Amino acid sequence: MHTMVVALQKQGRLLAASFETVTAAREISTEVTTVVLAAQADSPAGELAARGGGKVLAVSNPALEAVNEEVYARALTELIARHQPSLVLAPATFYGKALMARLAAMNGGTMASDITGLALENDRVVVTRPCYGGNVVARVAPRNGNPFFATVRPKIFAESTEGPGEVVNETVSEDCFNSRTTVKEIKSEGGGKVSLTDADVIVSAGRGIRGPENVGLVKELAEALGGAFGASRAVVDAGWVPYAHQVGQTGKTVNPKLYVAVGISGAIQHLVGMQSSRTIVAINKDKDAPIFNIATYGIVGDLFQ
Ligand code: FAD
Repeated sequence: MHTMVVALQKQGRLLAASFETVTAAREISTEVTTVVLAAQADSPAGELAARGGGKVLAVSNPALEAVNEEVYARALTELIARHQPSLVLAPATFYGKALMARLAAMNGGTMASDITGLALENDRVVVTRPCYGGNVVARVAPRNGNPFFATVRPKIFAESTEGPGEVVNETVSEDCFNSRTTVKEIKSEGGGKVSLTDADVIVSAGRGIRGPENVGLVKELAEALGGAFGASRAVVDAGWVPYAHQVGQTGKTVNPKLYVAVGISGAIQHLVGMQSSRTIVAINKDKDAPIFNIATYGIVGDLFQ
């Protein structure tokens, strides 16, 4: 099995999920190729090569500074044709999911998003992925002989720390960089110091905090624990917290070691985004709140106390 990993970076820094995706690839592959697309790909490519990325293809071009799916997908399509992987993996971030879906369409392949496991069965790759809000775990296999594209859920696999690797500088045709869209500027939505998808600890606020003046209380706890700050959709819709922090069906899927839900009722749309967290602590004044059905530890009480 030859697997190509698409390593994602933000402003030249590789996402932790990129190294987790390398680990996932190594579980079933005899050959691993990792692609880094960046304005200056040498340094992240070197890091990947030192941490088991296998043959690390470094493509550098100013047009690759920010993820532009159109440009990235064209460059990757050329590399897929050149290197012929059977499986292409990327982290299941917003960008990773959008990119893999586009690549699958461009390459006539099959796509599975947010996978949590993969195995080889009779030389055929079979992946597992939670669906229907985590109530069903589907086993998915590619339908045809074209490459199979999948995104890997963050925090399921350990980050690769070592292993074989070498950097190979690659070029793709200039046509790849002619985009109908140009990313002119990226503005941070104030997502906090620790990203939600990378965090080992997340403390999230729900409508129980009563108003925007109390957001700081929950943020302070997140910071004290060295974690990231999350929120339910109720507080995002109310405008108390930016969307970047939303956890759940229409927000981010997270998988930390510790998730603390403060004043969150536990609606199914919130649970699907965080119920695979290893330890869940819930603080809610209503002893019948559904969040207690999945909490490891529950505190029935007033969050302000
Ligand atoms: P509430 O349900 O109002 O709960 C507030 C909780 O705070 C209550 O349980 C209350 O007992 C407790 N509380 C109040 N005061 C205190 C106090 N002083 N001390 C302790 N506890 C207190 N929601 C998401 O979170 N993420 C999503 O991605 C998402 N996507 C959705 C998609 C769709 C299509 C739909 C229809 C809904 C979606 N929702 C999502 C909304 C979801 O259904 C809930 O409305 C939302 O999660 C509720 O947020 P909450 O728990 O903060 O608020």
